[in-house]
Amino acid sequence: MPPAYRLPELPYDYSALEPHISGRIMELHHDKHHATYVEGANKTLEQLDEARDKADFTRLAAFEKALAFNLSGHILHSLFWQNMMPKGGGKPEGELAEALQRDFGGFDSFKKQLSQAAATIMGSGWAALVWEPLGGRLLTTQIYDHQSNLSQGGIPLLVIDAWEHAFYLQYENRKAEFFEAVWKVWNWKDVAQRFRDARKVNVDIRNAA
Ligand code: MN
Repeated sequence: MPPAYRLPELPYDYSALEPHISGRIMELHHDKHHATYVEGANKTLEQLDEARDKADFTRLAAFEKALAFNLSGHILHSLFWQNMMPKGGGKPEGELAEALQRDFGGFDSFKKQLSQAAATIMGSGWAALVWEPLGGRLLTTQIYDHQSNLSQGGIPLLVIDAWEHAFYLQYENRKAEFFEAVWKVWNWKDVAQRFRDARKVNVDIRNAA
């Protein structure tokens, strides 16, 4: 059996993204919120083991739902930390910049679209830049909670946490300011590397395009 999921270390200090994201937000967000999703995913895997041992699948649908929520929360937060860096921001270069030009008409319209996707989520969720391997294109996606409203097969490259816990301590109801601030901390090198890796994924469904 593979090892349990674990909370990754932040790749920088809690306060490293200040003034754009406060150290206190990063501390709570990573140590409490993200940790809870890791625990939830592991707990659900244990419950699935137990269900198999007892051959009792009466609660399977609830476990599936809990796993999708918690594991997706773990994956999205792990990505989000890597997508950011101190003194980040600016614009991507090279192939990623060219793909943003092709699929969104340029960086500025991509930025507007992704920020709008984050700002207009109803309830809790995320906005993501996704590589869609069937058509071979970049898309933005609104993710409800952590796991709903996705086109299957898409690979997230850049994600924005739009849950209130991501910004409320610092920005209160001014969430548009938070969705602007994240553009000052993006780690475009990380996103570009994910873009390169995503395009290497070989999907048989490509034949359906
Ligand atoms: Mn979060």
